[in-house]
Amino acid sequence: MESTLSIIKPDAVAKNVIGKIVDRFESNGLRIAAMKKMQLSVDDAKAFYIVHASRPFYGELVKFMISGPVVVMVLEGENAVAKNRELMGATNPKEALKGTIRADFAESIDANAVHGSDSAENAKNEIEFFFSRREIN
Ligand code: GDP
Repeated sequence: MESTLSIIKPDAVAKNVIGKIVDRFESNGLRIAAMKKMQLSVDDAKAFYIVHASRPFYGELVKFMISGPVVVMVLEGENAVAKNRELMGATNPKEALKGTIRADFAESIDANAVHGSDSAENAKNEIEFFFSRREIN
């Protein structure tokens, strides 16, 4: 059993497809162990994406992530990190495989519908960033 962090980004929340995205996870063997809708602050977004601080798109990424509410979730299941990445599709939705979340719900490389942890270690840190123990069931 593994856990991973998923974020439904502001573009997908604005499109009213939270339920459709959650269904992808539940229909593919992942369980929602925690979930909340929230508005990130500039400091939240900067801290969450600190590994990208030196990248040219960092400013745009932070601006986008605070442009509206997000839904943060802990997904649980066998190989949850890899399974979630597979369901998400490639970072650039134009390169994402047919039937993936990004191919179906995302418009561009910045407005790309979802975030998913890329390793078990990052998942642990990202889950701790958003959730207290009592919020995870
Ligand atoms: P992910 O793990 O697939 O989300 O991709 P990364 O961790 O590499 O990048 C984090 C996020 O930064 C992505 O989901 C994109 O929203 C954004 N991003 C990555 N590369 C680019 C880029 O070249 N341009 C822009 N505008 N955004 C990018």
